[in-house]
Amino acid sequence: MRCLMLIFLLLGCTPGFALDRFRVEGYFLPNGMQVILKPGYERDHVAIRLVVGVGFDDFPCNQQELPHLLEHALFSGLDKSGEGGLEERMQALGGEWNAYTSSADTTFVIEAPARNQRKVLDLLLAVITQTQIDEAALDLSRQIVEREDGGHYSPLQRWLDRQDLGHGASDQLAVELGLKCAERSSIHDMTLEQVQALRKQWYAPNNMSLIMVGGLDKLLPAYLERTYGQLEPLDPIDHRPLNAIHKVADARRELTDGWLGNGAKLHWLFIEPTLDNEHDQTWDLLQSYLDWALYTELRLKHSLSYGPSAQRETFGDSGMLSLNADLDRDSLDDAEQILKDLIQRLQKDGLDPQAFDRVKRAAIARQAWSAQGNSALADYYWGALNDYSDGHFTNTSRLLQAVSLKDANQAMRKLFAQPGYVRIEKPLLSYDQLYLLTALVIGLVLVSAAGWYAWRSHRRENKR
Ligand SMILES: [Zn+2]
Repeated sequence: MRCLMLIFLLLGCTPGFALDRFRVEGYFLPNGMQVILKPGYERDHVAIRLVVGVGFDDFPCNQQELPHLLEHALFSGLDKSGEGGLEERMQALGGEWNAYTSSADTTFVIEAPARNQRKVLDLLLAVITQTQIDEAALDLSRQIVEREDGGHYSPLQRWLDRQDLGHGASDQLAVELGLKCAERSSIHDMTLEQVQALRKQWYAPNNMSLIMVGGLDKLLPAYLERTYGQLEPLDPIDHRPLNAIHKVADARRELTDGWLGNGAKLHWLFIEPTLDNEHDQTWDLLQSYLDWALYTELRLKHSLSYGPSAQRETFGDSGMLSLNADLDRDSLDDAEQILKDLIQRLQKDGLDPQAFDRVKRAAIARQAWSAQGNSALADYYWGALNDYSDGHFTNTSRLLQAVSLKDANQAMRKLFAQPGYVRIEKPLLSYDQLYLLTALVIGLVLVSAAGWYAWRSHRRENKR
């Protein structure tokens, strides 16, 4: 039945056939593995994403890098030829691969010629099931992960992180609120047993989703049942609850960013309150609106900031919406006042209906071209897995369309009802301060030299 459905789907995908990207062939293998298949426009290529439902957030702060360590160790090789031999095998198939660990998942990302899709899938399955991880492989992974995290985690960096000095503004606030770990976990303390246990507990078919977009093999479903379908399922594992806000953060802080410079960054951060409906789309539209408002106020009207922006980020179970501006150190007060006025005006008058309508139309229009090509579409499905059910991904254009001006105004007023958190990033010294300090030091040296000279002359006089 599944094969038949897929064949119909494949036949439907002739040139000129408009691709409905929200509709896919999705089902579960008997062992619980989720499969999402989508014939794409480019028929001689396939984009493969194998998403394993384990990420940083599934571990406490001191073990967060465990899934990342395993991800790298899995590329250490299938036989004596090691990682080089493994890479050669993928090259020979004309494919490229990589893997990523995020807070929510570990994902293997492959681009390959359509004609070799089964061989590539065989190789991926072998990597996941047959790689023997030993101490040497783990040690190599430790080195790679350390380098990816910005080099050796020096005692100084750890100390800075503990003093809340080593993070950017939003990360910093997330640490203060208890949404994010303060320091990197020590990968040197993680053992081979821990990595093996993770693999055994989480790399199960019922914790995986396989996404394939492109020129799909007609017999792919039967192939998948014979291969990936043979993996042993495990009892479902409960994910750790996401971090919630459980600490109090200062309303205002200045953070040191670098040693010397005249620049500064102003961040005004707000926690997104929960909304009754279309939570994400409402915040997305509000973020776009505020992005435009900041650009108008800070760049066009007052020329204080070249690239101001409004951003959304997620930390633990909370969303954070921030207003950000890169500035000259001297314009910090002016810019902050302009933001205060902007927020007050919005609270009083609401969003400008015309501007909101324009921002909304642009957001909907962007949906039509934001995921072009097999790879972008596969990435889109990967990011939207939570919005999938029954052969359909949620049609985001429709959700955006449903957000009314009234909804957006309500969200905006809820957001700005809180005072938010102001974070100012600037280098330790400005150039003026440096000149002043240098002049002071030179002055001190001159005064001491003159004093010493006077004292010596005085002694010589006395001796005579
Ligand atoms: Zn990595």
